[in-house]
Amino acid sequence: MNFLEKRILDEGSVLPGNVLKVDKFLNHQLDISLLKQMGEEWKKRFQDAEVNKILTIEASGIGIACIAAEYFDVPVVFAKKSKSINIEGDVYMAEVESFTHKTVNRVIVSKRFLGPEDKVLIIDDFLANGCALKGLIQITEEAGAKVSGIGIAIEKGFQQGGKMIRDMGYRLESLAIVESMDPEKGVCTFR
Ligand code: 5GP
Repeated sequence: MNFLEKRILDEGSVLPGNVLKVDKFLNHQLDISLLKQMGEEWKKRFQDAEVNKILTIEASGIGIACIAAEYFDVPVVFAKKSKSINIEGDVYMAEVESFTHKTVNRVIVSKRFLGPEDKVLIIDDFLANGCALKGLIQITEEAGAKVSGIGIAIEKGFQQGGKMIRDMGYRLESLAIVESMDPEKGVCTFR
């Protein structure tokens, strides 16, 4: 069991609807030493990948991505949820269905911050059905940039996102892959 799996078992809780709550250390209160360990681990796993930018999505990806960026020594760009693209200028846009809120958000990245010269590591906290990742991949490729890799903190392996993204040929590194979750017993197992 690795450091993140142990933390999930010790402090995470399983909610109905296939939701894992990790707000003690990842989604509300942030444990910076844990985030540093995650950043170090992604750097190790992607040491041979070319990365000059990290892309994530607001809100919960931002903290994780910023700490990871210290290890890659690159800037972070986050896709913003936007109701009014008019004030944002020239943007790349994708529609992303939120797994936890069941709403569709329009997310945007300014064309000033992503382009054909970029080699992008996409970082996010969770991978469930893969909607958030699909949106970030779409924006990266529309910009003519390369997806060098994808780093996820917690993949829920019993949902379809991980298989879909790997089948599309992307290099996906999840630090913890949850195999099953039981809301009644409050336990989960890892792959
Ligand atoms: P997907 O787009 O892959 O279906 O879901 C990924 C997004 O939904 C993540 O950015 C994350 O914010 C949220 N999410 C998905 N599953 C969970 C979960 O079990 N717990 C929490 N806290 N967030 C989740």
